[in-house]
Amino acid sequence: MARALRVRVDHTRCVGNATCTTIAPGVFKLNDDRQSEAINSVGEPEEIILKAAENCPVSAIRVEDAATGERLF
Ligand code: SF4
Repeated sequence: MARALRVRVDHTRCVGNATCTTIAPGVFKLNDDRQSEAINSVGEPEEIILKAAENCPVSAIRVEDAATGERLF
């Protein structure tokens, strides 16, 4: 079974370019202010979530192991 992740978007950094919502649409959604929200941390496989985080141009996405708090990105 896949481990549970905690996914967060830093809204002081997010520039709303929609890279994360394109790569991982099951997890990220732009809100009315064009800020990405992590709406469902189990909406995509872990590697897709990490790929979205890696490709955020402003490193606004933080991913942690929900059980241990280990920072994965
Ligand atoms: S990729 Fe980064 S900057 Fe772009 S919408 Fe997602 S969180 Fe915001």
